[in-house]
Parts: sequence; C-alpha cells; structure tokens
Amino acid sequence: KVVCVTGASGYIASWLVKYLLQRGYTVKASVRNPSDPKKTEHLTSLDGAKERLELFKADLLEECSFDSAIDGCEGVFHTASPFYHDVKDPEAELLDPAVKGTLNVLSSCAKSTSLRRVVLTSSVAAVLYNGKPRTPDVVVDEAWFSDPNICKELKLWYVVSKTLAEDAAWKFVKEKGIDMVTINPAMVIGPLLQPTLNTSAAAVLNLINGAQTFPNSTFGWINVKDVANAHIQAYEIPSANGRYCLVETVAHFSEIVRILHELYPDLQLPERCADDKPFVPTYQVSKEKASSLGIEFIPLKIGLKETVESLKEKKFVSF
Ligand code: NDP
Repeated sequence: KVVCVTGASGYIASWLVKYLLQRGYTVKASVRNPSDPKKTEHLTSLDGAKERLELFKADLLEECSFDSAIDGCEGVFHTASPFYHDVKDPEAELLDPAVKGTLNVLSSCAKSTSLRRVVLTSSVAAVLYNGKPRTPDVVVDEAWFSDPNICKELKLWYVVSKTLAEDAAWKFVKEKGIDMVTINPAMVIGPLLQPTLNTSAAAVLNLINGAQTFPNSTFGWINVKDVANAHIQAYEIPSANGRYCLVETVAHFSEIVRILHELYPDLQLPERCADDKPFVPTYQVSKEKASSLGIEFIPLKIGLKETVESLKEKKFVSF
C-alpha cells in the first residue's frame, strides 16, 4: 500500500498524510523544501511516520520533478497548488504552477506501471463560476463547471487557476487512460497541523483579529477532516468516479460572525459589512455524491471552534 501525496506540508495534505499513515499506508510525500523544519516537522512527528513516511523534494514548475516520488505508487493524491489571492503576476504565481504543475504530476503518473488511481484536489472554484445565478433555491452539483473566461473577466485568478487545472487534468487522463477522481471542496476550516498560516484559516483569523468589517461574501464551508477523509474514500472505493463537491453549509460572512459570537461572546468581532450593498445570497450545494463516500459533514460551528482554538494554540491570536 504505497501512495504519493504532493504538497504534503500544506493544510489539507497534512491531514491526508496523517490519516493515510493511520490507515497503514506507506506515504511518499513531496515537499518543496525538505530541509525546512516548518514544512516537515509536523509530518515526520506523525504516528507511523518513522516507519512509513518518506520525503521527496519536488517543485510543480520543474519537469520530471515528481518522477521519483510517484514511481512505485498505486495511488497519487495531487494536492499541491498555490492558494493565494494577493498576487502580482497571476500567470507566474498561480496559473503556471496550477496548470503546468498538474500536467507535470500527471505526466509522472503516465510513466508509472503501478498506478491505480489519481485523486486530484480541485475546488468548488472549478464548479461555481459559470454565470448562472446562485440564489437560496439553486442547488449546485458536480455537473457545474466554472467558465474560465468569466473568471478571467472578474480577475478571480485563483479560481481561474483551479478551473484550468482541473480541465487540463480531465483532458490529459482521458487521453492517457488514467483513472482519476477529483475532490472539490469549498472553504476548508478545522484544526491546523502545520505551524504556518494557510489562506482559508486566515479568513477566520481575519475576523477574530480586530477587523472592523466582515467581507460581503458567501462561501461554502467544509471541515478539513472531512476533506482528507473524502480523498482516501475516493481512492479506496472502487466505484468512486468523476467529481465530488464537498460543502457542509453555504454561509455569508455575517452568519460566520454570528456563530463566532455565539461561541465566544466576549470576543470583539466585526459588526459591519465591508460594503453597503445587499448581502451576496446563499445557495445550496448537493451533498448526494459526497455522501456516497461516507462523509460525515462535521457541522460548521464545530469547524469554526476548532479553527479558532487551533489559531490560539499556534499563537496566531491571543485572547
Ligand atoms: P496550503 O497553502 O496549505 O497548501 C498548498 C500546497 O501547495 C503547499 O504544500 C505548497 O508548498 C504547495 N505548492 C505551492 N506552490 C508549489 C510549487 N510551485 N511546487 C510545489 N508545491 C507547491 O493550502 P491548502 O492545503 O488549503 O490547499 C491544498 C489544495 O487544496 C490546493 O490544491 C488548493 O487549491 C485546494 N483547495 C483548498 C481549499 C481551502 O479552503 N483551503 C478549498 C478548495 C481547494 P509549500 O508548503 O512549499 O509552500
């Protein structure tokens, strides 16, 4: 039972590595910088890591970089992809690593004779943005695909990167006859294993760190433990196929603030929206397919509490 996890030091990947080790897998983990303890110590200290975790240096932008990490694996979990909003050069910082990086990883997969399935960490970013209205009565499902041109016009560069990467992946695996499943999570919350701050946990940190306003945005939310588990289920269940959206609840930031207030009544939280436009409406995302993987859907309130407690423990915030 040998599998590869790309971008293993990341927020979602760290939980994935932890659960894979727990389930008895041998994990070949790719990281950009194996000599940086901030990127590796939380992995090498996991139960089972001493015996069954091997680190590999690999970069999405270097051709053949993933060959040795993927060689001999039956499963490949490709999670590595930059997730930032604040970029100067979207092409170089987001699009190239996402798209070329995914093709790079899949090219290594195509060379493998042991590979059974690839699980690609995509996103609801590759699902939601197709120009169709999203309102409380609309149910989004796996048949939705974001339109890269609409996303480019809106300058949603991270969304563009995930949309183009997933699209390129489907084309590549079809041509090469590779079995691939994608996991399409919404905004991921829950405890951090890594010592560094990732973008989705930062969205919660911003609210509890003295901000005056909350964004006028509505997102789906999902717990990191459900996301990691879904990756493994999608790998292990032979009939798993296609895409799996992962959303526990869709909620506007005003609702997130309301729940945080319920959890931490003494905490100073933003009282106003960042603009005076009507709140961006909520919508629904079908749980039907993800439920077939046996996902628990840990409630949003628990995920928010876990995130805040973890941010406190890791000293990103003190109260
Ligand atoms: P992190 O930022 O914690 O992880 C991203 C990982 O990608 C890191 O390990 C990072 O490596 C790696 N990476 C970035 N650029 C490169 C590169 N050029 N070469 C090699 N590795 C690279 O974010 P998440 O865990 O949140 O994201 C993991 C995946 O999940 C991504 O594909 C993201 O798009 C997707 N996702 C995340 C969601 C969320 O809300 N968190 C929601 C939906 C999808 P390094 O540690 O060296 O920087």
